[in-house]
Amino acid sequence: MDDVVVVGGGLAGARAVERLRGEGFRGPVTVVAAEPHEPYERPPLSKDLLLGKDTDPTALDPAWWEQHDVTLRVAVRAIQLDRGARRVHLDSGEWLHYDQLVLATGAEPRVPDLPGADRALYLRTLEDKDRVLAALRPGDRLAIVGAGWIGLEVAAAARTHEVEVTVLEMADLPLEKVLGAELSGHLAALHRSHGVDLRTGVSVQEVLLGPDGPVGVRTSQGTIDADHVLVAIGAVPAVDLAREAGLEVDDGIVVDERFRTSDEHVSAIGDVANAWNVRLQQRLRVEHWDNAIRQGRAVADVLLGRDTVHDWLPYFFTDQFEFSMEYVGRPGPHDRVETRGDVEGHEFIAYWLDAAGEVTGAMNVGIWDVNDRLRALVGTRVEPADLTDLRQ
Ligand code: FAD
Repeated sequence: MDDVVVVGGGLAGARAVERLRGEGFRGPVTVVAAEPHEPYERPPLSKDLLLGKDTDPTALDPAWWEQHDVTLRVAVRAIQLDRGARRVHLDSGEWLHYDQLVLATGAEPRVPDLPGADRALYLRTLEDKDRVLAALRPGDRLAIVGAGWIGLEVAAAARTHEVEVTVLEMADLPLEKVLGAELSGHLAALHRSHGVDLRTGVSVQEVLLGPDGPVGVRTSQGTIDADHVLVAIGAVPAVDLAREAGLEVDDGIVVDERFRTSDEHVSAIGDVANAWNVRLQQRLRVEHWDNAIRQGRAVADVLLGRDTVHDWLPYFFTDQFEFSMEYVGRPGPHDRVETRGDVEGHEFIAYWLDAAGEVTGAMNVGIWDVNDRLRALVGTRVEPADLTDLRQ
């Protein structure tokens, strides 16, 4: 392997180049990053940074790049791939040659096809965070479209700023597909107990605009006045570069268990990659922090000739009011949930079990340093009587 180019200066790209150098690769390495920042972690954007805490989200020490002779090109976008000549065209006009190209272009907020939606707030970047934080003035009214993880995290942060928050969710319960009815009901109750006006079974039809921007939303249940509107209805993978270069795209860039596209010189990792998981025997596109880190490191290992494959279970975490949790696994839609511990006190473990009694996923809420034990349980058969909150 000669020169490596990584397109995308997010967490996955940062961890890939960190690993390449950490494992002794000495060839030229360049990261092309569209944002005007060094790679940073996004989870604090909807948590500590939105609460006004002084948290540094930077993924690598600023001195690291020079110390490790990795070229970081910020505020530069890759606009075209010439796979035949193995080069990337940048919006600065240059062409960069690669021997191995890693696409780590991440995802972008989904913008609904509704009047006015392009004028709403979204949350993906540091600049977005600044805009959302500026909107969190005590007494202001914030309408949040979508009760997914980001929408609910922003709702929690906004209530801490004493903002009047209305959350509008199309489904009957927030995050029911992930948590199941009982636990999503628990989360909904928690938000309501903190003054969030969480409305479910409601569809948003328009973001209403005044002369200075959004002034509310029109919904299937009437109009809601607001000073700010945030749309948080998920993300779409940034696949344009790959698609235009003729690579297979199907809900992300399609890659095998070693993150390779059909072109042996091009890999894809992180939020943009729809990668075959050998353990779960299915293709997965995972939009989580842990996945970006693991795939970044793993693709470096693959490029260095190691026998590394995508075989780990998805993991993620959230913090909303008193509900702080880690979640591991991939339960099926019909798996049943068993809880152990104090659900009302937000200190419990939830286990997902399939029809055969095998653990398919688990979540530790307010109980820490147990997620590795839960991960080890996934895929094993456990008698319900043997499931505990792991605290004794
Ligand atoms: P990204 O972080 O999206 O980075 C991709 C980068 O590539 C971007 O900077 C983009 O500008 C750049 N790029 C795209 N196209 C080009 C191009 N053509 N040329 C150059 N650069 C390009 N996960 C959790 O597990 N727990 C959490 O609590 C959590 N909280 C989150 C909160 C927020 C607000 C957000 C937005 C995400 C959160 N996530 C969380 C998800 C997690 O942050 C992502 O999974 C992770 O950032 C993915 O990293 P990535 O490097 O694959 O992509």
